[in-house]
Amino acid sequence: RQPIIAIDGPAGAGKSTVARQVAAQIGLVYLDTGAMYRAVTWLVLQQGIAIDDDCAIAQLASQCKIELTPSEDLQSPVRVWINDTDVTQAIRTIEVTSQVSAIAAQSAVRQALVKQQQSWGKKGGLVAEGRDIGSHVFPDAEIKIFLTASVSERARRRQQDFKKQGQPEVSLEQLERDIAERDWKDSTRKVSPLQKAPDAIEIQTDGLSVSEVAAQIVDYYHQ
Ligand code: C5P
Repeated sequence: RQPIIAIDGPAGAGKSTVARQVAAQIGLVYLDTGAMYRAVTWLVLQQGIAIDDDCAIAQLASQCKIELTPSEDLQSPVRVWINDTDVTQAIRTIEVTSQVSAIAAQSAVRQALVKQQQSWGKKGGLVAEGRDIGSHVFPDAEIKIFLTASVSERARRRQQDFKKQGQPEVSLEQLERDIAERDWKDSTRKVSPLQKAPDAIEIQTDGLSVSEVAAQIVDYYHQ
């Protein structure tokens, strides 16, 4: 199979923009796994299912159809459909963001989405980005990267993303609180929590540009 590059890390560490650049530079397909958990969360909220209704959510996750297609330009997030509804914008709202960790902690949801991710990755040729890619989804990935950044830097980046996407402005303090809370939920959950795979290369990205981080990863790939 073709190579797989796994990029994991906490919320707002710059995984998406970096992964998109790396994929474009090497000629691999970009897979945003967070978008899948967000899409399921959107569907749960849209259908009025309670966040703790594990049974209904498990059924929904195993039956829904998720499609991802690359955006037209390197700056924009992937286009996302769930059951043929375009949710590209809808999955980035504060409401979805605040509920996604609780949905992503449910083992049936993870099972369904990981199965889908592994089937897309069967032939390799992916830059896959998420929380558990190197540790769980593709443990035999050729390159594993763990991206980190301080909470304040990540909040600043999120605020800029919101601005670009035309979303309502959120204060830095609020974003820092949200990020710290999501870090905590993602790294303390029982099923495949956010963690650095033992063989992953950690890159601390404070003060580095997206192109600098992407260049480092492309270098590792060619080494
Ligand atoms: O990367 P992004 O912020 O879009 O991910 C949204 C949420 O999806 C994360 O906070 C996490 O709860 C969940 N997620 C996950 N495993 C992944 C990718 C995302 O649990 N591989």
